[in-house]
Amino acid sequence: MQLFEKLIEYPEAERLVLESTPLLPVEETSLDEALRLALAWDLAATTDSPPFDNSAVDGYAVRSRDAKVGRVFEVVDEAPAGRPAQKSVGEGEAIKIFTGGVIPDGADAVVMVENTSGWGETFELKKLPAPGNNVRAAGEDTRRGDVILPAGTEVGSPEIALAATQGYGTLPVYRRPKVVVLSTGTELVEPGTRDLEPGEIFDSNSYAIVAAAREAGAEARRLYAASDDADTLRSAIEEALETADVVVTSGGVSVGEKDLVKSTMLDLGVEQVFWGVKFKPGKPLFYGTRGETRLFGLPGNPVSAMVCFDLFVRPALMRMMGRRDKDRPRIMVYFEREVVNKFGRLHAMRVSLKRTEKGWLAESVGAQGSGLVSSLTKADALALIGPASDGIPPGDSIEAIVLRQEKLVS
Ligand code: AMP
Ligand code: MG
Repeated sequence: MQLFEKLIEYPEAERLVLESTPLLPVEETSLDEALRLALAWDLAATTDSPPFDNSAVDGYAVRSRDAKVGRVFEVVDEAPAGRPAQKSVGEGEAIKIFTGGVIPDGADAVVMVENTSGWGETFELKKLPAPGNNVRAAGEDTRRGDVILPAGTEVGSPEIALAATQGYGTLPVYRRPKVVVLSTGTELVEPGTRDLEPGEIFDSNSYAIVAAAREAGAEARRLYAASDDADTLRSAIEEALETADVVVTSGGVSVGEKDLVKSTMLDLGVEQVFWGVKFKPGKPLFYGTRGETRLFGLPGNPVSAMVCFDLFVRPALMRMMGRRDKDRPRIMVYFEREVVNKFGRLHAMRVSLKRTEKGWLAESVGAQGSGLVSSLTKADALALIGPASDGIPPGDSIEAIVLRQEKLVS
């Protein structure tokens, strides 16, 4: 057993994590796999898009200068999408055309079928087309050579659409980090496998951490719940180290006699960056590195584990992927009643948010115990309550980290 040597402040811990987090290598990644990754360099249009003038409607391609209401046109060919017409359009002629069909030579406008007497070998014009009517011009969307997506862009469905339009089958993105999650604790039982015996609880952390890592865009898998036994822990952490860019453990990292995670990591050659943060919830947080691998020892209390994941692991994962939006949004909030921090360290208080005419009103979700998993489902934000003993007077503004961004627009 060992006591904390030196507790550091939250901003310093965050800085140490980010400073030591590498950008992962760039990989050409298929469009289907690139979702939520960030482009490593600018992507330029390879062609004009659309590549040819084409029809925006179903109707007839005509020469607009021939058009007169009541005039009868002769239909000489057709141009469905994907099959250009063989003929061109002469005076008094028309080519049947469908959305996406190539505008035939000679034609400069498309009359919607609704503005004619209907489909047939001939038709009568009911409404005059102006030059260019219903024609989508080549290059009107993007021009060859234009930067269509700048470096750093996070790939979402619109970006995938735009890249595909240009014929890109892969995108140069920073690789997705591989996260291996290991929960530790002899009391842990995998949910859904059996009933609990006295003293046991279900492992919730590893599920929550895998989900949160995936939400951040990482590839995450759970190893298993290791018991608090030196040999088991050692082989589990060794196994995690084999494939992981980031190892995240939960539990066993405090100062109890059964807290063996830190010493096991150090035995395995992990270099400690810090252990212990002046922060609630999550004081015993451990962070270390081994080669290119980053290791986070999160505390076992479920709220501490999740909050530490959000504040330390998530930004590291986002940074590895070159994401510009690695930080959660921060807003100023106020409380209706005085708030006192009795913990002697920064308290990230779980609060709900309500928009009022005075700004964002924060309200504690209730008891702030680190084991209260239900409190997390009610929290919109973490209000950062400093350790100053006087308390925060009602109405004073303080900073909060927004966990549910959708709350800001509702
Ligand atoms: P520890 O950090 O190992 O001292 O654990 C602190 C508290 O969190 C204890 O009450 C543990 O039973 C609980 N705990 C540890 N790991 C988990 C887990 N994976 N899921 C749910 N609770 C856990
Ligand atoms: Mg434990």
